[in-house]
Amino acid sequence: MKKYIIILFLFFIVAKSQSQNIKIRVFSENNINKITLASSFGNYFIDADNLKGINIKRQDKINLEKQDNKIVLSINDSIYGKVDTIHFYSNDLKCFFQITPTNPSLKSRRYDDNLLIYLDSKDKGLKIINEVKEDNYLAGVVQSEVGGVCDNVEFFKVQAICCRNYLRRNINKHIKDGYNLCDGVNCQAYKSRANKKEVIDGANKSQGEVIVDSNNNIIETLFHSNSGGQTVNASDVWENDISFLQSKIDSFSINQPNYRWEKRIREKDWLKYFKDKGIDVKDYNNKTEILNFSQEEGRKTKLLNVPLTQIRKDFNLKSTFFTVQPFGSDVKLNGKGYGHGVGMSQEGAAKMCQEGYEYWQVIEFYYTGVKIIKIEENK
Ligand SMILES: [Zn+2]
Repeated sequence: MKKYIIILFLFFIVAKSQSQNIKIRVFSENNINKITLASSFGNYFIDADNLKGINIKRQDKINLEKQDNKIVLSINDSIYGKVDTIHFYSNDLKCFFQITPTNPSLKSRRYDDNLLIYLDSKDKGLKIINEVKEDNYLAGVVQSEVGGVCDNVEFFKVQAICCRNYLRRNINKHIKDGYNLCDGVNCQAYKSRANKKEVIDGANKSQGEVIVDSNNNIIETLFHSNSGGQTVNASDVWENDISFLQSKIDSFSINQPNYRWEKRIREKDWLKYFKDKGIDVKDYNNKTEILNFSQEEGRKTKLLNVPLTQIRKDFNLKSTFFTVQPFGSDVKLNGKGYGHGVGMSQEGAAKMCQEGYEYWQVIEFYYTGVKIIKIEENK
């Protein structure tokens, strides 16, 4: 009963916020002064200040240019006026458009649904905000981030759910700036709409689903490229224990593209590093451990008293999961995995899906003790 009430409660919060599109600022990493806009699919209109409902045909070219403190709106080279706000929208269920910055000149992108543009007093360029249905946004993010990994719908369901978790946890991240999230890496990369069928299916077929912990909190879905065969406890990296981020044996990451790495470091540099950390490297036992450190039996957290996370950072290693051996005047580090190792291995998840596991099995494998709940009705 308690669970039922919480789910209902979540439903009402979400239903309220989902009654309209979410707002994602695009081209957020650029200072844009001029763009060209065109309808790609669907019947679009423009509202520009008090000019309402200008019908846009598919072949029309709309130019928006910042001039002084106004935006000059022209359609097919005839100027409509100088305005403050432009709303480019469609009432069609499926619609998308193309946007091309021409000052500076950048690659065109296509996005679903609607667009809102106004001048930003702070950064002095055009503020370009995609008002987009949640599923279209999530599919765009998944395609931007991992669209090329494989063609497996179950894998894209996993990814869409993780992106939905991020969205729901961070829905107010940029709210003081007038939008929910941006398209930059500090939020989630969102460089285009999705056009890959499997990605779109993944987002649609997992609609409204999120991952919650045993307290029904929407979890932070940490991930990395490859675990090297064993994931890492959150507490071993960040020193606070998180119930759903526990180390486990992960055979699915083995022999995937980022499974192995190798690095050679001059032995005297390697020894000096530990000496600088206050270790007596002339001591036989210490020296033996530094030159022959092994994690063949499983992941460790320290080499003598130096945290492996620190060594990884200082030597720019792909992971903390390595074994050391003397190699002429060098030491050779034989490493496994890529990334911090906490949470989901993306390559492992892809492998599980290829082997026929379903999306919820993948999620429950990498995140300990979680469950997937659906927090809204189909829109
Ligand atoms: Zn952001």
